[in-house]
Amino acid sequence: MPCEAAARFLILYGSQRGQAQSIAEEICEQAADHGFTADISCLSNQDKYNLDSEIRPVVFVVSTTGDGDPPDTAQKFVRKIKNKSLPHDHLSHLRYALLGLGDTNYANFCNGGKTIDSRLQQLGAKHFYATGHADDGTGLEVVVDPWIEGLWDALKKTFSSMSASDQQDPARSECTQDNNHKNASGQKNNKADLEVDLNLLKLSEVDSQNGKTDSSVAETRSTTLVASLKQSVSPLSESVLKVPALPPSYLEVVLEEASTEGDAIPSGEDGFREVSISKAVQLTQDDAVKSAILLELDISEQDIAYQPGDSFDILCPNRASEVEELLLRLDLQMQKNFAVQVNLLKNSSKKAAKVPLHIPQNSSLQFILTWCLEIRSVPKKAFVRALADFTRSGSEKRRLLELCSKEGSADYNSFIRDTNICVLDLLQAFPSCLPPLSLLFEHLPKLQPRAYSAASSSLQHPGKVHFVFNVVEFPACPEHPARTGLCTGWLVDHVSSILRPLGTVPASERLGTSALPKVHVRPRPSSTFHLPSDPSVPVVMVGPGTGVAPFIGFLQQREKEHEMNQEATFGEMWLFFGCRHKDKDFLCREELERFAHNGTLSHLIVCFSRDEPDEVGTVNRPTYVQHNLLLHAKNVASILLKDKGCLYVCGDAKNMAKDVNDTLLEIIGNELQLDKLDAMKIVAGLREEKRYLQDIWS
Ligand code: FAD
Repeated sequence: MPCEAAARFLILYGSQRGQAQSIAEEICEQAADHGFTADISCLSNQDKYNLDSEIRPVVFVVSTTGDGDPPDTAQKFVRKIKNKSLPHDHLSHLRYALLGLGDTNYANFCNGGKTIDSRLQQLGAKHFYATGHADDGTGLEVVVDPWIEGLWDALKKTFSSMSASDQQDPARSECTQDNNHKNASGQKNNKADLEVDLNLLKLSEVDSQNGKTDSSVAETRSTTLVASLKQSVSPLSESVLKVPALPPSYLEVVLEEASTEGDAIPSGEDGFREVSISKAVQLTQDDAVKSAILLELDISEQDIAYQPGDSFDILCPNRASEVEELLLRLDLQMQKNFAVQVNLLKNSSKKAAKVPLHIPQNSSLQFILTWCLEIRSVPKKAFVRALADFTRSGSEKRRLLELCSKEGSADYNSFIRDTNICVLDLLQAFPSCLPPLSLLFEHLPKLQPRAYSAASSSLQHPGKVHFVFNVVEFPACPEHPARTGLCTGWLVDHVSSILRPLGTVPASERLGTSALPKVHVRPRPSSTFHLPSDPSVPVVMVGPGTGVAPFIGFLQQREKEHEMNQEATFGEMWLFFGCRHKDKDFLCREELERFAHNGTLSHLIVCFSRDEPDEVGTVNRPTYVQHNLLLHAKNVASILLKDKGCLYVCGDAKNMAKDVNDTLLEIIGNELQLDKLDAMKIVAGLREEKRYLQDIWS
């Protein structure tokens, strides 16, 4: 029988936005059900663990950020294990498993985890379970859930082999009676999932609360047999369900009718500054498919510096109407101005429970729901599971349990994840669900700022920074009403008083600065996405749609540098731009044509994907930027392979960046007569040398 020391393992997470942390916590929660004791720590808390002498198996959960970097919280740890003076067997005692999180829409998929994994291997550490790479592009849970499921068996085997070697080497075994007891009690709870008795919760069953047959559901079932968010069809509706264990609650929320202290939008300590929006220009025609807006922020009063290629974070609130609806739905409208106190529940079984740092004490409830929690986030299965316990109607509860169950995975993906529904949508769909506020505080993540690339150079616009963004629109679907993207929808409303079409007088000349709308911003410098320091290096820029934003900054910078130093040698600058219609959404057209005219831009290559062929004169016209890249393959190859130039790609991560990457492989393969694998090696080399750089988003 393994002793407690053997049944105890350590979970270390490196999280950027909280996902790795919540998966690590989920593993920690499940551990007891499988007979294990888990300790958990963030990789940044280096005083809480010591791998140099760690005899417990270690489970790492590591996300990826930026250009394939480990998260900020793991940087110190990575520096430590990368120390070149460490001997190659430094961690040969360590047994570990690693779950990497990433997004295949971005370059260097899961690289944060891969970096740590390969360095641990170099230092002699051994896997006790195969590494998992979860893809946020297709849904983390597709890999995470089965990976966690397999972890328990792998741990059991590891502990058995450890206990066998302990018996051979008694010096390793230091367990006590007490420890053995704890382990045995843990084993008793060895039950990963709760089997929900179908007979208790069948769709057409008697409603648990009112004792009546849930006739509305029964009726709907007899007329339609199509699954939806609210209802399932056979076989799911008839299945015995395996649902995840109920996450233990750990927060206590107290509302007091007292004056609120903390209602200040996060500023100083998070690096945010409040600035005026001095200009808002609609860059597209009214009939364009997507509307694009340029904002000018006045940063002259603030200590903010940036280079073209950097981005800025913008703080945006949740929609007032959605906050109101949520308050109404939770029956808390009368308390919206009450001060909120959040404490840890005494006796919670949650491991390493902490009051979330993003929920300030003594702020009003309305403020917290408006500025601190991402109320639009897609509820995870654990949240759906917890909501089921606060649902009175038997049929609604059954449906919520289906949606978080193993058997209902496809329905969860179709009706929750792929439709991007939020907690409010769930509460509207399941009217008998009335969760306490604490549940929302436990499960809703921090409201994240949105990043926007600087579309200007401070050489050309001292004291100002420009952004260009598309107003994101989500059409109505059965699961939710039509809505705009949170930040872009808010920004467009927020600047409505100063928004003007191209070519009219800027607002700051009509309005005093005090009347201008304000926004909180924080610089988000890029470590690599900048113009080469040597201006003679040629560059190719690929930026369709709003992806052109950082290149406007590059070109403004170059235009000024040309003016200031006419003797210097400047490398060629190529820009590949694309949009739908030449006359509707050719962003910053006049400025780009000026750059092309005055020689700042050597080649402006454009394409229009939705214009009729005869309007541009050729039948086989290039539709997308990658087609134009192919048409100019010789020049692109020569710039990258002979002239040591740089390729920059900016914009849509989902399709464009992948298509451009494939085209680059084709161009290089053709030019050097290489097969795809060898072309990939050349492209990887370009990335490594920071000559193929991406600033992409989805
Ligand atoms: P959100 O509400 O956050 O929605 C965004 C995404 O959520 C959607 O794309 C979709 O995948 C999903 N989603 C949410 N709700 C639904 C739903 N109901 N149906 C379907 N899908 C849904 N953007 C620019 O326009 N210009 C830039 O210069 C720019 N630069 C950036 C630089 C960086 C470094 C990064 C990381 C991003 C950049 N972005 C830029 C993207 C920008 O940060 C935002 O993601 C974007 O503006 C959308 O924000 P939002 O809050 O309006 O949308």
